[in-house]
Amino acid sequence: MKYLIVFAVVLVGIWFWRNNRRAELRDKSAPRPGATALPEPTEIVACAVCAVHLPRAEALPGGQGVYCSDAHRRQAEG
Ligand SMILES: [Zn+2]
Repeated sequence: MKYLIVFAVVLVGIWFWRNNRRAELRDKSAPRPGATALPEPTEIVACAVCAVHLPRAEALPGGQGVYCSDAHRRQAEG
């Protein structure tokens, strides 16, 4: 009878532990109410000369496309 009580206490302990773990995981996956939305996705463009990919904000615009560097813009457009 004594072992049955010990077994029951262990089972209740495991049940509580599992419930807490599940609640923790749920809290982490749910978005926080104060959290801001994800940032806008960055548009990636390819250099017209070497085809390296870079964010549009860092690309140099040219007459025949965008370039990764001033050297490639000069190389393509003279
Ligand atoms: Zn380039």
